Amino acid sequence: MAGLLTAGLLARNFERVTVVERDGLEDTPTVRKGVPQGTQTHVVLKRGMDIAAAIYPGLLDDLQGHGAQALDMALDGVWHVAGVWRKRVSSDVTLYSMTRPLFEWRVRTMLAALPNVRILDRHEVTGFLHVPDGTRITGLKVRAPGSTEETHLEADLVVDASGRGSRTPQWLEDLGYPRVKETRIQIDVGYATRLYHVPPGFDAGWRSLIVSAELPTNRRFGTIIPVEGNRWTVTLCGWLKDYPPTDHEGFLAYARSLAQPHIYEALKNAEPAGPLHSYRFAHSQWRHFERLPRVPEGLLVVGDAFCSFNPIYGQGITSSALLAEAVGECLLQGLDGLSRRYFARAGRLLKVPWMLSTTEDFRLPELADLRSFGSRFLYWYGERFQQLTAVDDAAVRTFMEVMHMLKPPEAIFSPGLFWKALTRRPVSTQLPRRPEPLPVPVSKAA
Ligand SMILES: Cc1cc2nc3c(=O)[nH]c(=O)nc-3n(C[C@H](O)[C@H](O)[C@H](O)COP(=O)(O)OP(=O)(O)OC[C@H]3O[C@@H](n4cnc5c(N)ncnc54)[C@H](O)[C@@H]3O)c2cc1C
Repeated sequence: MAGLLTAGLLARNFERVTVVERDGLEDTPTVRKGVPQGTQTHVVLKRGMDIAAAIYPGLLDDLQGHGAQALDMALDGVWHVAGVWRKRVSSDVTLYSMTRPLFEWRVRTMLAALPNVRILDRHEVTGFLHVPDGTRITGLKVRAPGSTEETHLEADLVVDASGRGSRTPQWLEDLGYPRVKETRIQIDVGYATRLYHVPPGFDAGWRSLIVSAELPTNRRFGTIIPVEGNRWTVTLCGWLKDYPPTDHEGFLAYARSLAQPHIYEALKNAEPAGPLHSYRFAHSQWRHFERLPRVPEGLLVVGDAFCSFNPIYGQGITSSALLAEAVGECLLQGLDGLSRRYFARAGRLLKVPWMLSTTEDFRLPELADLRSFGSRFLYWYGERFQQLTAVDDAAVRTFMEVMHMLKPPEAIFSPGLFWKALTRRPVSTQLPRRPEPLPVPVSKAA
């Protein structure tokens, strides 16, 4: 996704753009070897979708035409968090919900339709072309799988969007650059996802259902989200090796063990629409290209190759989109000094999503050593704020805007919300808890 978004933007700035992809690509929504996480639920936050739609005009209609579901999760969905159900009020945050393969396929189709773009699939990048002293990258060496023959692709600009397995750090070291420093947070998150047919006549009053974990006591999380083909994508996940089972009975039992049992209730009579798929995500990782004392001209890095987040917070594609947007903004000043300008800017941009996801993970006592000064207050206030969303429209809307990266995290500390959160009686999050009735939507108008 990082490559598809950045390439669309580059097509506006360069005569020719070539996208090199190791997998063979099909003109259908498919899970492929190079993106094994494609079996798992992917949510595209509004900020990321806004950027994608700006790069590809007509994208939202196209997605809906292919079955993507538009929903206001604050109103159409139910969400249990910090011991409460959030109040259901309308927000301006529309989520376009679909499977990851569908999203990727539609964006790729729109990219491929641009006249100056060529997608070279079944080709693997094997190294950089560069000037003799290594101060400028001038293209890529590529090879068809199984072949020993290398082709050279010359380019004014190379963008690495090859994901977590990127070899750029190694290739830079081979050119004499210092080792790229890396921050890793070991979270050992396990996912299990299955598509289900929405039961005929199903009407429980919600379109999406989320039961959040309550770290550190409850480390399990579950979601039901509607996708194309009148199906639900259902994901269960847990932190620190509390992996969900991948057999039918075990999956249902895990759903029942969440802070509220409503996901289990919805699934127990629903018909699966495919097999159960699991995925294990050992650590979040940030490769600090922005801290390198020098970088070669002609090279940028986007997406997971730069920074890869705990997927539970749904930030990967949106952060990739933010970096793609930063590439476009940095290009306004031309190619001279582009790499340095971009890495500095990207480093600043990544701080917000990284802080949002890691702060939450650091609630786990196993990761307590990594907590920052003031984190105790943040956790205390964060829980109070989440509980305020059970009764307060402005708190719900602010939460949605912060989560979808439309507002900075500080917005939850605005004086009005701060006072209300502080003076509200806290709700216990101790387990076990009784099932609580679901909230009903209270307002349609914004
Ligand atoms: C379980 C899970 C759930 C997730 N859920 C969400 C979510 O809800 N919302 C969200 O925004 N994000 C989510 N993410 C993150 C999201 O998948 C990524 O952040 C996003 O895909 C951007 O990654 P990318 O494009 O940089 O890399 P990738 O998606 O990994 O793509 C890299 C591409 O490069 C190709 N490639 C690799 N090496 C080479 C090479 N040498 N030569 C040629 N091609 C090569 C690969 O085949 C692949 O196509 C989730 C991730 C996981 C693991």
